[in-house]
Amino acid sequence: MTQSISERRMAENEVVFRQYNENMQKSVSDLNDLAAETGQHDLGYASDEPIYFYCECSDENCRRRVRLEPSKYSEIHKHRDRFVIVCGHEVSTIELVIGKSTNFCIVEKFHTPPQRATKLNQTNTKNI
Ligand SMILES: [Zn+2]
Repeated sequence: MTQSISERRMAENEVVFRQYNENMQKSVSDLNDLAAETGQHDLGYASDEPIYFYCECSDENCRRRVRLEPSKYSEIHKHRDRFVIVCGHEVSTIELVIGKSTNFCIVEKFHTPPQRATKLNQTNTKNI
């Protein structure tokens, strides 16, 4: 089974969103460390409070958020081919919904995407 260029691009877009989310998660965890070091436990980041991650669907114009706990997010992303998206944003040609919750769906790619992608692939020229 071969993958078309557009399918590969859609998968790479999801990797870009995942990187945004991982950076955001890291920032929260850095703030936690800082708060712990300086004895400030009232910053509101101390526990595993749900945060708004970007929807990791293949639409480069999607700016929806999904709300879940950082620990849950990490758990899902132990599998490099799994992503968290708004339910209904899945593309059946490249991924399969393997889990659902009230706030989000988990999809698994048919093809494991690259670890890193540097930019969003534009599939159209629409200005945001
Ligand atoms: Zn989306």
